[in-house]
Amino acid sequence: MTDLTFLFQEMAKCLFVGYRALTVNETPVSCLIEDIETNEILSIGYNYTNISLNGTKHAEFIAVKRLRDSNLNIDFGKVRLIVSVEPCIMCASFLRQLGIGEVVYGCSNDRFGGNGTVLPIHSDPNLPQEPYCSYGGILRSEAIQLLRNFYIQENESAPQPKIKKNKDIENKKFPTNKFNLTKDQFVEHYGKERLPVYESGEYEITPIVGKGYSLNEIISLKDLKDIPFLEEELGEVNEEVVNEFFDLFFDVGEDGRVNYGKTIRKYNAKKRHHEE
Ligand SMILES: [Zn+2]
Repeated sequence: MTDLTFLFQEMAKCLFVGYRALTVNETPVSCLIEDIETNEILSIGYNYTNISLNGTKHAEFIAVKRLRDSNLNIDFGKVRLIVSVEPCIMCASFLRQLGIGEVVYGCSNDRFGGNGTVLPIHSDPNLPQEPYCSYGGILRSEAIQLLRNFYIQENESAPQPKIKKNKDIENKKFPTNKFNLTKDQFVEHYGKERLPVYESGEYEITPIVGKGYSLNEIISLKDLKDIPFLEEELGEVNEEVVNEFFDLFFDVGEDGRVNYGKTIRKYNAKKRHHEE
């Protein structure tokens, strides 16, 4: 049976980086670059488009730039990119030019996805560089939930809040779970036992088949504190911050369905400032 606990742990770290970016008013899209052999985190990135007012400063670019600036002799074919949202077409093309080893993402990018949702830049045989392997669906509903927390506060701070129904993020259902993989590719990454997830679109991938999960069982304060570069750039990681992060998400049940029973927190930047 394919145990995906490791990928869930890495994606949980990645989402936490995105959450910390959200607290400084960035879009919570984030990534980690890891050595495929040692699993060491070599670099992190988060969207830097709002602060820099530069729409091309996507998480992937920031993480790659950081790595190049470090002067380490990096073979990009030996690194894994863990990214909360499927890379956009621009980043997907950039990653292919770099010769990235592997991409693992959380949720699909329905508008700009370059790993199969809009265009399959990672696998297109007509492009000159080598294709790369990319698969998603790890902590998918949590990645979507994090984005919803960003968009809802944007809406609420707009002069005329428009999308009323978006306010209801506590109960809003998640879109169908689609994979940018053939059936064989899916089995290769997730195991045959998870085929019902692929075929129905109604379930989430879980670390272990037949067992549900809660984010706080997957990752600890220490794991999150150990993420390189994070505390220096986005502030102290302590129990309070980590619990705030865990409180944003529903649990996933043993049947692979999101369990809407838990009361989740809604991130509110304005309220935070008021309290402090
Ligand atoms: Zn991008």
